Amino acid sequence: MNSFTSLFAFWWKALFACLLGFFCAANAAADTAGWIPLFDGQSLAGWKASEHPGGFKVVDGTITFDGQRSHLFYDGKVCGGDFKNFELKAEVRTQPLANSGIYFHTAYQEKDFPKSGFEVQVANTHLGAGGYVEMKKTGSLYGVRNVHRQLVKDNEWFALQLSVRGKRIQVRINDLLVVDYVEPENPVVDARHPGRRLGHGTFALQGHDPESKVAFRNLMVKPLPDGLPGEPEPPVRFDAVDEQIVKLGAANYPLIDFHTHLKGGLTTEQVLQHMFKTGINHGIAINCGLGFSITNDAGIEDFLKSMAGQPVFIGMQAEGREWPKLFSPAAVARFDYVFTDSMTIFDHRGQRTRLWIKEEVEIPDQQAFMEHLVATAVKILDEEPVDIYVNPTFLPAVIAAEYDALWTPERMQRVVDAAKRNGVAIEINSRYRLPSLAFIKLAKQAGLKFSLGVNNIDANLGRAEYGLEVIQACGLTYKDFWMPKPDGQKPIQLKRYQ
Ligand SMILES: [Zn+2]
Repeated sequence: MNSFTSLFAFWWKALFACLLGFFCAANAAADTAGWIPLFDGQSLAGWKASEHPGGFKVVDGTITFDGQRSHLFYDGKVCGGDFKNFELKAEVRTQPLANSGIYFHTAYQEKDFPKSGFEVQVANTHLGAGGYVEMKKTGSLYGVRNVHRQLVKDNEWFALQLSVRGKRIQVRINDLLVVDYVEPENPVVDARHPGRRLGHGTFALQGHDPESKVAFRNLMVKPLPDGLPGEPEPPVRFDAVDEQIVKLGAANYPLIDFHTHLKGGLTTEQVLQHMFKTGINHGIAINCGLGFSITNDAGIEDFLKSMAGQPVFIGMQAEGREWPKLFSPAAVARFDYVFTDSMTIFDHRGQRTRLWIKEEVEIPDQQAFMEHLVATAVKILDEEPVDIYVNPTFLPAVIAAEYDALWTPERMQRVVDAAKRNGVAIEINSRYRLPSLAFIKLAKQAGLKFSLGVNNIDANLGRAEYGLEVIQACGLTYKDFWMPKPDGQKPIQLKRYQ
């Protein structure tokens, strides 16, 4: 189509959609850009609260919530309170520990959490209650596409933008795209949330509980017609892995690949596209150490600057055994996390050996090598201030086939015990499919936490396949997963090292 006919088709479709009642852009209240206020700044006219209506009030031109659980549904005149394709924007401010959210494609119900539609999560520092630990942060398309990094602060207004165009749902936090989800032809039907399907409906603001104090202002909607030009709706079908990811996300598992490298030309933008497509969050890690891309504090500074403001975690892969001498603790503490492995060691000859490089490896005696490797791993865990032990139990190619015989229960236990006494998490590595299930079971028994990692060498990130297998095979729960420590509680800040 040329531009004239496509524009014509667009308006014809728009007119048609309007007649069907799903498009009401020709609203007198709309500004020149098409935005229509849903809140008049003075009253709750056009809104209806459920359960405990007293919690929602208008204070200083904002809708505030402070009270028992209640949801505030829009039932005003704009589009008759029935929206299909739209953009929504709001400003939100949370108090510490608050849990809130904005529902869409939903419908009024007398009590409980809304059953129909989706929720865009608002939770910056919410912890959960009654033994439940909430892992889903602000910006999550709740239980479908989760965001695990805290992107905004309590007590500060932030902008939440949400759009539905056909099958595509996008969420932005302060203009940063954090969810870009296309509902597949075969969405995952979660028995507890059968209503998480695109359709049409109204909006609702969540008043979660008395601890969750939150305020909203500048709530605006821009209704959109069907079939907007430039908004393709590629048909998407979920395979079994896609489905497992959504199911685990709905069950609160923080699926985060903390061992993603910008290698082989892979860009941050591509990592984000991969996250949007797969539903797996990422931690991007940079190799720091002798002979690696970053060798000093200035390098750390430059890298962190280049990654600022991205919806990913930022990690340091500490390389070699010299790394603590190369960087200051203050510079290291600026990363969200630090990990290392025992793939670079000083072998029995005192030779610095990279175990993945065939030419550097010399193993005259397998048993002696193993004893030395285990002792080295234990020493690393005891001495180096790291969060995660990655590529765990890796063996050089020349002896890898003997893995099960060489990693005796006693050797595994020594590594597990060292990780335990130092509070270090164990990576479940998809590239090497390490460690073994036997090791993971020992680690789980000891109460260790786990992280997912691909350790990619090119643009192929996969979907944490080995981790997903391990979750099932070893019965890991969402609480078995490690999350980055808050500032002041990082190993680099707590552990003395030289
Ligand atoms: Zn790596």
